[in-house]
Amino acid sequence: MAGSGQPVSDWRPGPRSARLLAQAREVIPGGVSSPVRAFASVGGEPYFVERALGAYLTDVDGNRYLDYVQSWGASLLGHAHPSVVAAVQQAAGRGTTFGAPTEAEVRLAEEITAAVPGCDMVRLVSSGTEAVMTAVRLARGATGRDRVVIFSGGYHGHSDALLAAGGSGVATLGLPGSAGVPPGAVADTVVVPYNTLPELDERVACVVVEPAAANMGLVPPEPGFLEGLRAACDSVGALLCFDEVITGFRLRRGSAAGLVGVQPDLWCFGKVVGGGLPLAALGGGRALMEVLAPLGPVYQAGTLSGNPLATAAGLAVLAEVDDGDYERLGDTVATLASGLVECFAEAGLVAQVPVFGTLCAIYFSSAPVRDYDGAKAAAANGRYAAFFRQMLVRGVALAPSPYEVAFTSLAHGPEEVAVTLEAAAAAAKEVAQR
Ligand SMILES: *Cc1c(COP(=O)(O)O)cnc(C)c1O
Repeated sequence: MAGSGQPVSDWRPGPRSARLLAQAREVIPGGVSSPVRAFASVGGEPYFVERALGAYLTDVDGNRYLDYVQSWGASLLGHAHPSVVAAVQQAAGRGTTFGAPTEAEVRLAEEITAAVPGCDMVRLVSSGTEAVMTAVRLARGATGRDRVVIFSGGYHGHSDALLAAGGSGVATLGLPGSAGVPPGAVADTVVVPYNTLPELDERVACVVVEPAAANMGLVPPEPGFLEGLRAACDSVGALLCFDEVITGFRLRRGSAAGLVGVQPDLWCFGKVVGGGLPLAALGGGRALMEVLAPLGPVYQAGTLSGNPLATAAGLAVLAEVDDGDYERLGDTVATLASGLVECFAEAGLVAQVPVFGTLCAIYFSSAPVRDYDGAKAAAANGRYAAFFRQMLVRGVALAPSPYEVAFTSLAHGPEEVAVTLEAAAAAAKEVAQR
């Protein structure tokens, strides 16, 4: 629970967090190593984490929070799972990086490809950003085409070509989504609305899509959308790439493809497969993957790629989870989501809690959300920020942005769900009274 003496009316970080933030701001832009950690979209200032175990984290002021960030989904088992800790410790004792191949890379690649039919090979990299960036380069190299189609409200890491701003409604060509991205870098990036089939032509190298969009809250694919993309890609000879940095090994063991019944040509995995260490992968069929260097002409490399600590952590996670665990996680999320819906209804707060398998999110709106325009409209009233702070006051840490999902881990059991719902009932009443 949040520290004593804090007003229930709103949340503020404790004195140590506040002091660290002030120090951090002197030497790190905004005091954070990744922008969303600054809490800008929910108001206020972040807690600094001291340690975490299972479903809980403890900040530097000694406050304990039930954590639904879970490193943005990278933690599937919960924090500091003993198997993962032991695997990383053992690997560290044998050396932390070599710049030469290791057995663990082979074993992790075998685990991933065995779980993903059609994905014959993977290349291990250090971040989701790298995985998608390389997948796009591979698609362009293999097809000899330049154009990439993405969906507004999707997130594919921060490489230049994929930081294009999505216009509403119609396809937008080449508007940089960040300062420092030259128009030329996004000139071949087409941004279209999610859940609407785009017109493709023979200039398109690949369509990159999150099979369930989980970076604008949670927008499941409507029936026919992914099937339609598959058919559209096939009709013009474009490649379909599933960005599964969130969905991969979180919805189920392997790819969302097995759940949605649509097979892509390329996959990107990250977060869960790295077991909480920097690791991601891109994968596909053998012929396509062999277009990568050293066999083919598409270059990719990394000093720390396939890092021994990261592969050890990833293998430890994959060894811990079976189909029953994913079922249990799905049940936990379903109970959480229906409980939240009740809390909001009881408080008279207009809200919806979309669920897709083991993922859920909260929108404080009633209009169905099927794309980024809908997600933005749902976030516009600022209720999420108020609810977020009221939950923190009550010891529950949701994602500090209305555009993120609530990441539940396997360490979240019935007791954690009960604690969450008790906090949510009170927080919802507080927010509804404003
Ligand atoms: C997190 C994320 C990325 C980027 O991964 P990083 O490891 O942060 O570079 C790419 N795609 C999706 C769908 C993500 O959620």
